[in-house]
Amino acid sequence: MRFISTRNPRERATFAHALLRGMAPDGGLYVPEPIACFRDLPHLLELEFPARSLVILHRLLGEEFSLEELEVAVLEAFNFPVPLVRVSDRTYALELFHGPTLAFKDFGARFLAQMLGQVAAREAPRLRTVLTATSGDTGAAVAHAFWKQRGCRVVVLYPKGRVSDLQERQFATLGGNVLTYAVEGSFDDCQALVKGCFEDQALVGSLNLTAANSINVARLLAQILYYFEGVAQLRQRGVKDAPVLSVPCGNFGNLYAGLLAQAMGLPVKAFVVSCNLNRTVPDFLDTGEYRPRPSVATLSNAMDVGSPSNWERVQHHFQGDHAALREALRWGSLDDAATRRAMWELNQCGYLPDPHAAVAYGVLEERRGLGEPGIFLATAHPAKFEELLRRDMNLPCELPPALAETLGKPLLSKPLANDLEALKRELSS
Ligand SMILES: *Cc1c(COP(=O)(O)O)cnc(C)c1O
Repeated sequence: MRFISTRNPRERATFAHALLRGMAPDGGLYVPEPIACFRDLPHLLELEFPARSLVILHRLLGEEFSLEELEVAVLEAFNFPVPLVRVSDRTYALELFHGPTLAFKDFGARFLAQMLGQVAAREAPRLRTVLTATSGDTGAAVAHAFWKQRGCRVVVLYPKGRVSDLQERQFATLGGNVLTYAVEGSFDDCQALVKGCFEDQALVGSLNLTAANSINVARLLAQILYYFEGVAQLRQRGVKDAPVLSVPCGNFGNLYAGLLAQAMGLPVKAFVVSCNLNRTVPDFLDTGEYRPRPSVATLSNAMDVGSPSNWERVQHHFQGDHAALREALRWGSLDDAATRRAMWELNQCGYLPDPHAAVAYGVLEERRGLGEPGIFLATAHPAKFEELLRRDMNLPCELPPALAETLGKPLLSKPLANDLEALKRELSS
């Protein structure tokens, strides 16, 4: 399988190339072309997660990677469970937060680290620098995924004082090959610094620089796999109807991966685009007018995105056809009060959600037809929002050991001015 740019079908790349480059040279995003279709689907759904994931990835990447190489990547990257939890009659949560940093971004980041390691091993040994800006979850997932990986150092930039204490501890206490910088500025400033580094071709070459942000194709392919797992587990429970799948959306990478799974043959009745008050996409689906805007802060902070980077891929998937988009998708948004109500409702069912899962559940309930089985994606562990749950809602929640362990460790971050030259000097020293 090859990848093409969303902006020009003649701009083609192998997986390895797209993985290292991140963005296409014309500024577009890489998308798979053609999308492989599975005819042996019933059989595929009967396999266990690792065996099925290996079959899917080999079908997609078999021209570039052997079965053995892909097996190592699957077993190393996805070494945690993906349970489908029944919440009420015909409603299920697909829990994607059982990886080391307790958010679904572990899937993409860990697979990216594996594949980058394999691609790098084919070249002459040379230190690689993986650079990423984070508003919280991505930095933790990427730092953990590359921690202790040989031949590689990770640099994480984050806005000083603007990530939660728990988030900061998840990446800033690791040390070793993980360098973290608390930048005097906003998340947008951090992203601009990263962009500035990648625009300096001499620096990219001398540092062997790679980006690990959410537009990377490796992260995308990893996310296809759990959609298959959700439907497979639903079937094992005797639910044969194609489910409605509700996705809590921020940059829309997760939704796009789901659309790819569906295009590959996975039976999905419809996808529900679930947003918080950052309504750029729901408004577009309502009106046909695409108007990116500054993000507003909400309880589901990983979805506070006003200009979603992966929307270009979704548009490309539907060839820019607004009617087709409206036909294929359902959508909705919840404000913080409605998110709290959804959390209460779930708690009444005996299920403790994080705010992102609550948004996905709330919009699913609004948009679901009578009798349709529904799955909402639970993208973060509720313990990551322990303070909100305990103080605001009086729902106690234990910190899992992995998170509790980081509390006593010292923060190893260095301060950094919001200044591209200062960052370049740090990276080159
Ligand atoms: C990143 C994130 C999202 C949004 O995912 P996208 O792929 O950017 O749409 C949702 N929930 C959580 C917990 C996240 O960390």
